[in-house]
Amino acid sequence: MSGRRHSLTEARRLVVKIGSALLADDATGEIRRDWLDALADDVAACRGSGQEVLIVSSGAIAVGRRELGFHASGPRLKALRLEENQAAAATGQIQLAHAFQESLARHDIAVAQILLTSHDTEERRRHLNARATIAELLRLGAVPVINENDTVATDEIRVGDNDRLAARVAQMISADTLVLLTDIDGLYTADPRKVADAEHIPEVTRITADIEAGAGPAPAGVGTGGMVTKLEAAKIAYGAGCRMVITDGRGLNPLAVLRDGAPCTWFLPQAEPLAARKRWIAGSLRPSGSLIIDDGAVAALRTGKSLLPAGVVAVEGLFERGDAVTLKDRQGREIGRGLSAYGTEDARRIAGYKSGEIERLLGYRGRDEMVHRDDLVITLTEA
Ligand code: GLU
Repeated sequence: MSGRRHSLTEARRLVVKIGSALLADDATGEIRRDWLDALADDVAACRGSGQEVLIVSSGAIAVGRRELGFHASGPRLKALRLEENQAAAATGQIQLAHAFQESLARHDIAVAQILLTSHDTEERRRHLNARATIAELLRLGAVPVINENDTVATDEIRVGDNDRLAARVAQMISADTLVLLTDIDGLYTADPRKVADAEHIPEVTRITADIEAGAGPAPAGVGTGGMVTKLEAAKIAYGAGCRMVITDGRGLNPLAVLRDGAPCTWFLPQAEPLAARKRWIAGSLRPSGSLIIDDGAVAALRTGKSLLPAGVVAVEGLFERGDAVTLKDRQGREIGRGLSAYGTEDARRIAGYKSGEIERLLGYRGRDEMVHRDDLVITLTEA
């Protein structure tokens, strides 16, 4: 199998998810520094070729357990109470972040820690904040290292496993490629550890019932995922127009090895990430208000620009920051839809003003754009 769609080199914005079993020694719970250093070398190489890289790393619980005197690993992990796991995560996360910082500092790369819950990726206000922070970190050249915020994430706001968290992050920031580094080189028609003639599947374009049946239940051990959560992640990635690849990351330099053609399974979506995001904005969100915009803004929007407060002549309806709004011209025709960076009240105060005046008008320095171009879709292309 070959071609650009199956190549890591094609990635522009890359999310790399690392399973606990790769990062933490199974017996001792210690961080495998040689492995991490080699991964950091891979990350530096990706960035050297112009790729943006984000890391979603598990391992906080596996590392923290040892620190707090729980058994380091193995099936006993499941036996810990929720609070014990949370305590272990809180302890291990410091070590994990520190280890990433040290390994990437060898390449003069700054690291930023981001802890998220499912609310942060789903709820639109939080989603926009997390998205903007991550975008800024990438712009500044830092590598975000992301994990679930295990301290506050219980039950209904838990993602539960980092496979899905990584896919949600990829969706949130419109990444084009998600790499799941795990302990198996991809998807098989059945569990190859149990079924001798299980066949490797190099490419998946749709999750069928057969594929789900082949994935089987989640195994016990330090990771929480197994193949089931990886398929869940693939579904999210498909919806987001993001390619996903599963590969065996246990050896050193797993990204370089993948780039050089290691066995793996690619999940290939039909759409591109930004197109998928725009479809979501255009199709599935119900606008709670409207921004009436002047002719200059209509023209700017049609050339792919953001909507600035200066172009807004009136604000209708009641909406909060992050809500979907309709963008209308002075004649009341719908031009597009988007996520507003300001709620009704603030939007009214800054409407018609230059972005440089936002701080004076609102008392805080908000975003320059009323609706950022990535959060905006044109629905009427000509007058
Ligand atoms: N947040 C957990 C940890 O860092 C990992 C969850 C997972 O492995 O999927 O230990």
